[in-house]
Amino acid sequence: MTLRLRSVTAGALLIAAQMSVASLPSPPADAAHGHFAGFLSALGKTARDLGISSATVAAAVADLEPDPEVIELATRQPEFTAGPWDYLSRLVSNARVAAGRERLASHADLITRIEAQFGVDRAIVLAIWGIESNFGAAMGERSIIRSLATLAAGDQRRAAFWQRELLATLRLLDRGEASVDRLRGSWAGAMGHTQFMPTTYTAHAVDFDGDGRRDIWTSVADALGSTASYLKASGWRAGRPWGLEVVLPPGFDHGDVASVRAPLEAWRRRGVGRPAGEDWPSLPKGTTLQLLLPAGARGPAFLVTANFEAILKYNRSTAYALAVGHLADRISGGRPIAGAWPADDRPLGRSERAELQRLLAATGFDPGDVDGMIGSRTSVAIRSFQAHNGLAADGYASASLLSRLRLALQP
Ligand code: CA
Repeated sequence: MTLRLRSVTAGALLIAAQMSVASLPSPPADAAHGHFAGFLSALGKTARDLGISSATVAAAVADLEPDPEVIELATRQPEFTAGPWDYLSRLVSNARVAAGRERLASHADLITRIEAQFGVDRAIVLAIWGIESNFGAAMGERSIIRSLATLAAGDQRRAAFWQRELLATLRLLDRGEASVDRLRGSWAGAMGHTQFMPTTYTAHAVDFDGDGRRDIWTSVADALGSTASYLKASGWRAGRPWGLEVVLPPGFDHGDVASVRAPLEAWRRRGVGRPAGEDWPSLPKGTTLQLLLPAGARGPAFLVTANFEAILKYNRSTAYALAVGHLADRISGGRPIAGAWPADDRPLGRSERAELQRLLAATGFDPGDVDGMIGSRTSVAIRSFQAHNGLAADGYASASLLSRLRLALQP
């Protein structure tokens, strides 16, 4: 899979799992040093061409050396990915729910004003704060300049992306919005209470406490206001939930509704229900919802609104957006997810996903490019294979599906 950072802040965990740095050079130390020095000098020229002062660039890159740990973190690619249930239980722990409820009370005035201004659900803003930095306790200690320079010089595949972030960092230094010392964060360059990438900061950070500075590092008001501002710009619609858990009726035709967006009533007519004891929310007219099966037909089911997409702009990972939505629900007093996860199954690692694609092709179900990424074409191929073999056509790439395909191709 490609690194899905797009506009984004970085939930470092998932990004480490999702990113692929194609081929990082490992030349001898002298050559590496020369390469980095050459990179910095070219960077200085580009920055000056963009109107960033030479003094700012010189101060930022003085004595700068690449950070080998950043390259290591960026290239780490676990063969076996954790299931969304592992990710959720790590990110939505009881301790974090309790801490979120505590913040809901202690920051009531602030988040009421943020909600009024941006129309973003207060619990969602708190959930992002909780997941991104554990409410400010873990904002990252690495030098943003050093990490981004290391990645821009060393990650050939994503060099342009890292360089844009690095130049945005130099620009905010040049404008005096932060000092070099203040610019600390994750290995991927995410900063502050809600882990904004520098370009996201540039475009969406706001001065919510009105002191004339956009300070996402020490002002909780600025950080949370900026998060709501970013979600609003990403398409958040006021008064709608991110989604809700549902229960599918027996014999539900998954294949039929793969990309359907429909009003709640349409889903209810298909027999979709709520977990025991849960009511249907009343949604604003015109709200459409899409079915989400994060662990396939054997796991819990959700209907999600366009607000789920807005959370995905923050970090392009379904498990991440689900964790944010669910933590928000729990902070607001909601119950744990009712549906059971297929904990005996697991999502596939990259090389297994590529094998799955090869096997689909060999059985006559064209998955598109064999690239180890489950895109829409591969999902369609999986659904066809499943429908053909009397399985629930959920399009989900699981270990049991891979076993099934291996068996199907045995002589
Ligand atoms: Ca401020």
